Amino acid sequence: MTTFQDDYSLLAPGPVNIHPEVRKALALPMIHHRTPEFDKILKKVLADIKVVFQTEQDVFLLTSTGSGGMETLLVNTLSPGDKVIAIVSGKFGERWADMAQYFGAKVIVHNVAWGEAVKVSDVEDLLKQNPDTRAVLCQACETSTGVAHPIEALATLTKNYPDTLLLVDAITALGAYPLPMDAWGIDGIVAGSQKAFMLPTGMAFVSFSKKAWRFIPDAKCPRYYFDIRKEKKANAGGETFFSSNVAIIRALDVVLSLITTQGLDKLFHDIHRRAEFTRNFAQKLGFVLYAKSPSDSVTALTVPPQMDGQKIRLHLEEVHNITIMGGQDQAKGKIIRVGHMGYIQDHEMVRLIECLGHTLRHFDPDFMSLEHISNIATEAQNWLEQNP
Ligand SMILES: *Cc1c(COP(=O)(O)O)cnc(C)c1O
Repeated sequence: MTTFQDDYSLLAPGPVNIHPEVRKALALPMIHHRTPEFDKILKKVLADIKVVFQTEQDVFLLTSTGSGGMETLLVNTLSPGDKVIAIVSGKFGERWADMAQYFGAKVIVHNVAWGEAVKVSDVEDLLKQNPDTRAVLCQACETSTGVAHPIEALATLTKNYPDTLLLVDAITALGAYPLPMDAWGIDGIVAGSQKAFMLPTGMAFVSFSKKAWRFIPDAKCPRYYFDIRKEKKANAGGETFFSSNVAIIRALDVVLSLITTQGLDKLFHDIHRRAEFTRNFAQKLGFVLYAKSPSDSVTALTVPPQMDGQKIRLHLEEVHNITIMGGQDQAKGKIIRVGHMGYIQDHEMVRLIECLGHTLRHFDPDFMSLEHISNIATEAQNWLEQNP
């Protein structure tokens, strides 16, 4: 049915496909983390990663999945009993609100309908009613719905509250589209290795603003593994607090070189282009955009009526060797999600559109003709050539 049957395409919103140069770095023989060779790499990575965070603050490298980084932001800034406003617009918002509750924060959950972005005026009202709020928690991109939240406007808002921090889960945003931490005034931010950083799963990267550092010494939530004061001290001495994740940090060095060589703008441009392409051609196939304010890192698509998103996802993987994601909870079966981060080639994107068409036809042969699919695929190919 397709011309690239042997190819495997990983088009999930994380983990993502890894650049060939990064794969080479991952295959290198192990070295000890207390060696001049690794010392040099660590020093370079700690400096270079600030470019992606767009910050002058320290960025920390944690060996944990992204959720460990989310925990790091909380335990280093909060004390039990602190008031927190948690914006919950999907699975990851739920997780962060739960986590804050677990650590004893007084959590005001602000529910936002799935597929919608938070209204800044709603958060403004909540802050007016609760001026003693220590932190506002928000995903930059809520990966479960594909929504991008208005982080710049939220940061502008929290700037007016000297004792309120804006903590941002940017695991599918930082490194995928502009999120300048210092310029916008984000107080705590977390990124993830297997998402926009195009690495294997296993590391989280975090940074805190000057404003946040005022609260770090006195935060009373229990912290041991994720005590950022100890990490900072270790980094100042050229080490990480615990054993360094040599393999991923070495690969991160290659990712950062690739990014700084081509420039952040080019990276953002490529991801934006894939998002535009997917939004455009998926709609031509009969899918509908699920997110009202779609993120460039992941596109959530409502499947045509009578179709089952879970079955589409499975068929695409089993028959066409393409991995995308389905929906979770209330969106289960209703949506599919396509990731735009990582090493993705143009032919994979055309193939995705073509195979999605064939998959819809597999479940309903009357849905569209083979000719129609082939026309859309040709149009898709042309679009990519005309929009480099
Ligand atoms: C992937 C993801 C996480 C973290 O997941 P881990 O499995 O812990 O790496 C958190 N938030 C968002 C928005 C994510 O996309």
